[in-house]
Amino acid sequence: MLQQELRKSFCLLLHNEFSLFYHSNVDRKNRIMKKIHCLLLLLFFGSIVSAQSYDIVIKGGHVIDPKNNIDAVMDVAIGDGKIIQLANNIDAKQAKQVVNAKGMYVTPGLIDLHAHVFFGTEPDHYLSNGLVAVVPDGFTFRVGVTTVVDAGGAGWKSFPLFKKNIIDNSQTRVLSFLNIVGEGMRGGAYEQNMNDMDAKMNAFVAKQYKEYIVGFKVAHYVGPEWVPVDRAVEAGKLANVPVMIDFGGNHPPLSIEELYMKHLRPGDIYTHTYALLEGNSRETVVDTATNKVKSFVWEAKKRGIIFDVGYGGASFNFTQAIPAIKAGFYPNTISTDLHTGSMNTSMKDQLSVMSKFLLMGMPLNEVIKASTWTTAQVIKREELGNISAGAIADVAVLNLRQGNFGFYDKTGYKIEGKQKFECELTIKGGKIVYDLNGITDPIYVKNK
Ligand SMILES: [Zn+2]
Repeated sequence: MLQQELRKSFCLLLHNEFSLFYHSNVDRKNRIMKKIHCLLLLLFFGSIVSAQSYDIVIKGGHVIDPKNNIDAVMDVAIGDGKIIQLANNIDAKQAKQVVNAKGMYVTPGLIDLHAHVFFGTEPDHYLSNGLVAVVPDGFTFRVGVTTVVDAGGAGWKSFPLFKKNIIDNSQTRVLSFLNIVGEGMRGGAYEQNMNDMDAKMNAFVAKQYKEYIVGFKVAHYVGPEWVPVDRAVEAGKLANVPVMIDFGGNHPPLSIEELYMKHLRPGDIYTHTYALLEGNSRETVVDTATNKVKSFVWEAKKRGIIFDVGYGGASFNFTQAIPAIKAGFYPNTISTDLHTGSMNTSMKDQLSVMSKFLLMGMPLNEVIKASTWTTAQVIKREELGNISAGAIADVAVLNLRQGNFGFYDKTGYKIEGKQKFECELTIKGGKIVYDLNGITDPIYVKNK
């Protein structure tokens, strides 16, 4: 404020001197010119000294940046949409906005690997331009998520519509696993139609939109055939991207050992890892008789199969997750399977799922890693999920609230915990997009 006042006074003085100049004789004109020079110089240097080098400085937060093995209290400076530096003490006076993050965690912007955001108003379109999907911006920033990957909502036929309606109109970064089914995730018979599972067309469209399409998705197929998985992997090979498998169901269930060892490649993703489906139509990773993680599941992880949570409405059971986490079988990636059917039941949101894994015994930095850096690597977007100097400034400021909290699953199995993640502030591309309690000073900046 003081600088602005001074600048105003200088400008007024200059204006006065210029007025005098025009009404003076030569001698006086020379004197006035000297004065004007001095004033201009003062104004120029004044503006250099007062120039602010950063858009945002986050002060005093506990930074967890798994890519760079940072787990310490540090300041973070942001400018021009990028991380400028991390240091023990960055001068807050040099920032347009200062975030007071004392007592909070500062992490890379979270990436939700499995969400359903192809919202639309077509009746009976399920998760592909239908009402069961959600608009991304309404559900992301408030939980620290800056990037969502839509898991198979769009197929190659509907991807241009998905891009036009959702990707191009969202502040959230929206990426896509293209459904192996050309019609996308329209539910019912559409997802059973093997004639609409064209590896070549999928790969063709994925290459055309490679900025957005990060892989292929198989979902909800019921039957003994391997065709949907194999077509997706074929498309994955053609486009050099991973596939994500929701293994559907069959009676008797298909072998997940065969899936991991014979059909998938290292880097391919098995979602709904901790699901125990009613009717036992899918094999589980934890043996329900012994409560032990099956030995070939450990082998599959070693082989490079990515185990994703994909919590969803019916795809997470504590009876699977608790023994797995106890044994150290952590998910590679933590994701929600967000849609209207999951968010209002036990899943809630990304932070609720992360809180459950923390409570089950997964270490805090592993929980953050599985929601940031590992996810970025899995989708081959290593410019995301980290806060290195020069990286895109996607940042989440999280509070680990203390209190009495209950966490339950779809069966009503409940565990109680004393802490729970809450999102205090989210920064996407260097801009504050969510601030729960107004911890930014000033809260709003014009022309930013
Ligand atoms: Zn899903």
